[in-house]
Amino acid sequence: MVMAIKIGLEIHCQLTGLQSKLFCSCHCDYRDREPNSNVCPICYGLPGTLPLLNQKALEFSSMISFALGCKIPSKILFYRKNYFYLDLPKNFQITQYNAYGITSIGVDGKLEYGDGKCARIRRVQLEEDPGRLVYGESNIDRSFYTLIDYNRAGVPLVEIITEPDFTDPKDVRIFLNKITSAIEHLGVCNTRLEGSVRCDANISIEGGKRVEIKNIGSFRETEKALNYEITRQKTMSIHEIEIKAETRHWDDSRKVTKQARAKEEEQDYRYFPEPDIPTVILGNEFLSSLKTKIPELPDDRKSRFIKDYRLSEHVSQVLIDNKELADFFESAVKIYSSPKEIANWIVSELMRVMDVNHHKYSKEERSLFSDLKVEPKHIAELAKLVDQNTINRNTAKKILNQIIKNGEMPAQLVEEANASTIDDSKVISEAIESIFKSEESAVKDARQNPNAANFLLGKIMQLTKGRVDPQIALDLIKKKLIETN
Ligand SMILES: [Zn+2]
Repeated sequence: MVMAIKIGLEIHCQLTGLQSKLFCSCHCDYRDREPNSNVCPICYGLPGTLPLLNQKALEFSSMISFALGCKIPSKILFYRKNYFYLDLPKNFQITQYNAYGITSIGVDGKLEYGDGKCARIRRVQLEEDPGRLVYGESNIDRSFYTLIDYNRAGVPLVEIITEPDFTDPKDVRIFLNKITSAIEHLGVCNTRLEGSVRCDANISIEGGKRVEIKNIGSFRETEKALNYEITRQKTMSIHEIEIKAETRHWDDSRKVTKQARAKEEEQDYRYFPEPDIPTVILGNEFLSSLKTKIPELPDDRKSRFIKDYRLSEHVSQVLIDNKELADFFESAVKIYSSPKEIANWIVSELMRVMDVNHHKYSKEERSLFSDLKVEPKHIAELAKLVDQNTINRNTAKKILNQIIKNGEMPAQLVEEANASTIDDSKVISEAIESIFKSEESAVKDARQNPNAANFLLGKIMQLTKGRVDPQIALDLIKKKLIETN
């Protein structure tokens, strides 16, 4: 039975590019600090304190709205979302809401992703992050206690809410990668930092109520959680069990969703305008200056890579998906202009030793390249050595592995290892001569079956320790096979 599936997303993105929190001067970067040391009376919401809006946060959040094709209103308002939870010291969160004809910082956008697919963006809103809860057993169910760290409370957060336009969990992952890349290109968020981008998903199948999934640790887990929910809800539907509106938590270790609580309805939050922050008039000047602040976005950059560097669509996409990789590529091309060769080394070899997935990094690894000693100059020189036939690809791969570990320049490594490719055909011919003598039966086979010549090539590579150019050697073997027939 085919049942229609509707998936919507709520993506939270911290504005880590800022210096201070949303309403006070505490550090925006709360990571690696003693618990509850990055706080002030405003973060705690103590009586008598007043929030002061961070102007740069307005700018950053409107840049995100712009990149997602949203309408940016001329004035905005903040709201109190009331709920009692221990990560929220004020018992309300200052956020945004659409009411009284005033909207949040962005509405009615859309973002294309994948092959011409498109998801509508309902709303982009600016709000404060709550504190952080740490469970004793790192698991909400098995823990006997909960620790609260308010260092994160008040960190500027942008929430992106999509319409339920997704039907396939795989599309969700592609879309999340796209959003992440856009945010990175805007320079407003380092998406590699643990917890800087988080995604809740809601999902319903035909005839059932909407279920929200929270606590998902990474984009890869989002896809798994959604697949699990589809199976669960379909099974319930087939057995005519009612699917209730509820919030479920994703259990990362058991790979299941579990009921967390009955879902609050919007009216339960008793939204009302935040009396301590006046209506903010953005004005024409703000909006027109915004357009000049938007840097090149991923789609434009991808088109430029295809046009200017003549890279394939696929390779361009892989590079663009991760701003750090795209930047690395362009820096290398500036040093030595061989775009295809350089892109090839990055996509096929460098990425093999990198984990480009988000949210998996320890606190120190704030960059994709933290662990690796390789820089653009290394790849540029490596590409040059290969282009000039100084070394062959096998040797270059070995050299790259050394560079990653010790950061030495390729030319120096080539010299040290005396690994220069033997392209002197006389030397190769001598090697062939000796292999032809020692491998008589293989030579006979090769005369019958041209594919067997690869065996001889293998022997020659062994003899010369992989330093000959395989193409030249193969040509010479074939020539010799004909000559000696
Ligand atoms: Zn503070």
